[in-house]
Amino acid sequence: MNRYELFSPAGMTRIMRKHGFKNARSLGQNFLTDEGVIEAIIDGSGITEDDLVIEIGPGLGVLTAAAAESAGQVVAVEIDERLIPVLQDTLSYYDNIEIINADILKIDLCRLIEERQPAGKVRIIGNLPYYITTPILMKLLEDRVPAASFTVMMQKEVAERIMAEPGNRTYGALTAAVTYYCEVSAVADAPKEYFLPRPKVDSAVIRLDRREQPAVKPLSEKVFFETIRSGFGQRRKTLQNSITGTRGISKEEAGLVLDRAGVARNRRAETLHLEEFAAVADEIVRLKEIQPD
Ligand code: SAM
Repeated sequence: MNRYELFSPAGMTRIMRKHGFKNARSLGQNFLTDEGVIEAIIDGSGITEDDLVIEIGPGLGVLTAAAAESAGQVVAVEIDERLIPVLQDTLSYYDNIEIINADILKIDLCRLIEERQPAGKVRIIGNLPYYITTPILMKLLEDRVPAASFTVMMQKEVAERIMAEPGNRTYGALTAAVTYYCEVSAVADAPKEYFLPRPKVDSAVIRLDRREQPAVKPLSEKVFFETIRSGFGQRRKTLQNSITGTRGISKEEAGLVLDRAGVARNRRAETLHLEEFAAVADEIVRLKEIQPD
């Protein structure tokens, strides 16, 4: 079967019936039916014929098939073992796809990539299962998976949060973490009508390009992220209150740290740029005489 037989809702329903497959909502199984968005993900990710594409959650294989037509090799990681025979059927037309039955949160992607020795770059794509969007992104970034780009679909609201600027209500710890590691750009919107079954919310595709160097250089990355987490953990509070307790600092010490970092004590985390978070974290490192990384 080539991918054009798969695209339509009717084609997908036929495949699911043939295999007696029923969507598991608990696994975020909302399958993409719009060819335009599929093309946008492939084009937006910059895949070339030498590249290794890793797809997170292939589902019925629509995106996988499209990727296989542009890439050198495709590795698709799917947690639901019921989908493996379905994928073997829908993707039998292609000889450059490897299907792995595993949990993307548990698999060692760095090793997987090393073993495949791609001639070109590594591109990660996926229509992410909504219930674990943030853990997946954090794993890809924190494990420093050596991919040139991550082009992924997620709930529109989460995409907006990732792209928010400081001062925006939706700017949060996820925004700070993603922009620390990556440059972010919008690729496409996907309204809920583009999925089978239809989810409750709209989606959007964004692309993350890993920076050569993180956006800022804190003395200690660990303390930097702890400071961000503290700040946003109690985002309604002023920074002096919200960062109190980070590495055991008292409220007075928190005030001192903010003064030294040149950040007003009554500001809130959502107004801080990454450079300011780094300056605050560095003052905590100095005050508490923590070993820099
Ligand atoms: N790529 C397909 C598409 O666009 O139609 C399916 C996308 S669907 C939103 C998410 C897929 O991720 C499902 O196939 C689901 O079974 C799979 N999935 C859910 N949790 C996963 C995990 N932890 N590891 C790997 N795949 C997972």
